[in-house]
Amino acid sequence: MQIDVYQLHRHAWNRKLLNTYWFLVMLQLPFEFLYSFTAKRDLPSTLSHLASSVLIMILILILLETTNRYYKKLLDYQIISGGAILSFTIIYFNYEVDLVALYILLPIFVSIFYHQLSKIVYSVTLTLLSFFILFTVRWSVLSDYTLADMLTILPVLSIITIIVSGIMKRGVEILDDLRTTTELKQELLIKNIIMDKLSKTDALTDLYNHMTFHEYLDELIEQNALGHFRIHIALLDIDNFKKVNDTYGHRAGDAVLKNVSSTLKNHVGLNDFVARYGGEEFAIIFTEKNTDEVFDLLERIRWQISQAKHAELNEHAVTISIGLCEYLPGTSKELLFAGADQSLYTAKKTGKNKTVIHSAPLKEAN
Ligand code: GH3
Ligand code: MG
Ligand code: MG
Repeated sequence: MQIDVYQLHRHAWNRKLLNTYWFLVMLQLPFEFLYSFTAKRDLPSTLSHLASSVLIMILILILLETTNRYYKKLLDYQIISGGAILSFTIIYFNYEVDLVALYILLPIFVSIFYHQLSKIVYSVTLTLLSFFILFTVRWSVLSDYTLADMLTILPVLSIITIIVSGIMKRGVEILDDLRTTTELKQELLIKNIIMDKLSKTDALTDLYNHMTFHEYLDELIEQNALGHFRIHIALLDIDNFKKVNDTYGHRAGDAVLKNVSSTLKNHVGLNDFVARYGGEEFAIIFTEKNTDEVFDLLERIRWQISQAKHAELNEHAVTISIGLCEYLPGTSKELLFAGADQSLYTAKKTGKNKTVIHSAPLKEAN
């Protein structure tokens, strides 16, 4: 994802700048009153001074607010221009107050927020323009300012411009660094997820692998100790698979393993966990089901597999044998496995292509 340096939170920042202008005008108002009444003018000119300065400032703000609502496209420039007119107005009406001249820098400081050279140049141009207008109409009447004094504004403004564009470039640099870091982090995260999946699954069948199966079963047994729920495991083994390989080749055998895996995945529920336990052996963990439900489901799977003809085996099907065992709370994982294994062995010994339930719960050896 690309971070657009210029658009990042642009509207929010424009809102903040407008709020700052309101704050500035509200702050300036008491000074306008104070200044108007202490300037030793007659009352009509005092009132007209006050009315014009306050009115112009409020008008600029209303204009900016309207633009902010209806025409956002050039809002950045209008906010800088608004800042320039605001500062011009304040200086124009209070030009005899020495420090008020500092307001001239307002648009330049505002332009920093946009991190764009064009806006800095624009604000400096406006500042220079208002400076020379102010000099012509206002400061030239103040006897102690000469044109030469006034021209010193050029080096001062140049230095300020250099500092401001430095701040801007540094900001852009930081954002670029941040973007690179974020991208690297995202790449790493994706790689981690892929690696994690690869380490947990079997490449050929995309089922969980032997190790993950045991981790999950350990976790379930631990949870079972805290609050009982039903756990069954089934071991499934393809019948006569060696013969399949010998007759049709290893690649055909692989295709059968994939097909059988898909059938398993498609039949089990969301809470059930299917793994490729080893070569042509699979294991399934069932939770929250009773033995009859699990048995019915396994029988459906077994029947489905026995009916599925494989193109790679000249339209022949394979069969599977299944051993099923329920976990007896408080006993061990090994015991559970031994039960399922014994049942699978019985299924193989008694003709294959069947599901055998481990009926007599095994007792843990002392
Ligand atoms: P049974 O009915 O008793 O299970 O007989 P079986 O032939 O299936 O069992 P056996 O253990 O003798 O042979 C299993 C075969 O599975 C041997 C091995 O070559 C094959 N096998 C194991 N992993 C893979 C694999 O990833 N791909 C293929 N194509 N064959 C595999
Ligand atoms: Mg086999
Ligand atoms: Mg086997």
